[in-house]
Amino acid sequence: MRRRNAYFCAVRRVAMIGYHHGQTPETHMRYFPLFVDLQGQPVLVVGGGAVAERKIRVLLAAGAAVAVAAPRLTRQLREWAAGGRLRHVGMAYEAGQVEGQRLVFAATGDSAVNQAVFQDAEARGVLVNAVDDPAHCRFISPAIVERGPVQIAISTSGASPVLARRLRGRIEALLPAGLGGVAEAAQSLRSRVKRRLPAAARKRFWEGIMADANLLRWSAMRTERIRAEMDRVLRGFREHRGGDAAPAGRVYLVGAGPGNPDLLSLRALQVLGQADVILHDRLVPEAVLDRARRDADRIYVGKAAGEHQCSQREIERLMIAEARRGRTVVRLKGGDPFVFGRGGEEAEALRQAGVDFEIVPGITAATACAAYAGIPLTHRDHAQAVTLVTGHGAGAGGDSPDWSSLAGPGRTVAVYMGVKQAARIRRDLLAAGLPRNFPVAIVADGSLATQVVLTGTIGRLPELAAGVPAGRPGLLIIGQVAALGSTLCWFNESAAVSEAA
Ligand code: SAH
Repeated sequence: MRRRNAYFCAVRRVAMIGYHHGQTPETHMRYFPLFVDLQGQPVLVVGGGAVAERKIRVLLAAGAAVAVAAPRLTRQLREWAAGGRLRHVGMAYEAGQVEGQRLVFAATGDSAVNQAVFQDAEARGVLVNAVDDPAHCRFISPAIVERGPVQIAISTSGASPVLARRLRGRIEALLPAGLGGVAEAAQSLRSRVKRRLPAAARKRFWEGIMADANLLRWSAMRTERIRAEMDRVLRGFREHRGGDAAPAGRVYLVGAGPGNPDLLSLRALQVLGQADVILHDRLVPEAVLDRARRDADRIYVGKAAGEHQCSQREIERLMIAEARRGRTVVRLKGGDPFVFGRGGEEAEALRQAGVDFEIVPGITAATACAAYAGIPLTHRDHAQAVTLVTGHGAGAGGDSPDWSSLAGPGRTVAVYMGVKQAARIRRDLLAAGLPRNFPVAIVADGSLATQVVLTGTIGRLPELAAGVPAGRPGLLIIGQVAALGSTLCWFNESAAVSEAA
């Protein structure tokens, strides 16, 4: 609701800007938007440089019959001309070239020529655009977002092309790459739906089909699969006489990354934006939850070492129950759901319950902490292998890992949940034969403004661990690469603390 109000306010504001310029409300629209079918249509581009090339690329994609007038062409334009994809009609621009064109672009970088092209086209009633020169444009071209047949054109009516590009970037991030497949599947079903359903039911059918939850789910599928799903909905719709086309619930096991909201994936953002309910861990900070749909229910399901807000069984039961109510459930976990996140168990439980799910990977603590501490996990000279291990000892039998095979020269080990176990890990590493002066680093609150990097050696591991602020997550990195952190550090530099051996 809130979103819709904001939209109306924006519309009203645009209209008011119109009044300010002394226009009547009927003429507040500076440009009339339209999509033009240019298949096989003659289009003239005057100019053969980089700007012309960019325009021509789009024109060719739209199937236009492009003619270019220019003394020199870029290498790409020459290739296209040689391959017959465009015609090079002249070294110089002449007024007569405008004759019979659907559109004309002046992209010469010479304002006198661009102006002449504009006047010639105007005199002949041909639509003309002088690139980056709004005074000599009968039409302007928008910034575009494309997902197959879905095209979104963005314009600020020439007020700020930079703003238009920014908006385009935001919309790009918002729309799943697979949205085009959804449109294609819908298109292929249209005539059948028309035959099978009366007009009123048709509208209801398509509204049900295009529900947000469906778009989200289908955008991760192949077009044939989407078509099959739509087909299934159509059959159900007819059987129930138009009732119950409501999408089934689904669970998204989403990796939230290391806590810095800028490290969320685009898919995670898309999913969070559509959530009905979010079950989240302790490691997921407020700043990440703030990127989710405002009216989603948030359920904190705990999960700090030793502190269990909800048992694993309860979490699974809750996810399944919510999905069965037809809701879009997001199970949001720190880092990646399949790296020490019990995502595997949760997926198993969902499969067993017959609940549909999707897994959205996240940036795991090892890669995030390494990047933000300037510690390359692999390095041509220092590390040819990386291992992710838990220091918690909660694996099969609760044993310590076999350090002698994991740690040592040429190998990097990232230890999750190891800060509290630092003394034991030190003992085990030394027992496995590693030297006391072997490099280690601890990254606490990796990627956050509060990040701390402590570098030192195995011999002083417990002292380093004592430097991790209470209750904050910390990752141990054991390997020669740990010593590089002090030279490659780039983030939050003052927070890096080194300890001598
Ligand atoms: N699924 C998560 C790991 C969960 S286990 C992932 O893929 O990252 C929790 C452990 O992850 C913590 O004990 C700590 O070792 C590590 N961790 C998670 N976020 C961290 C961060 N921002 N900085 C340092 N370590 C982190």
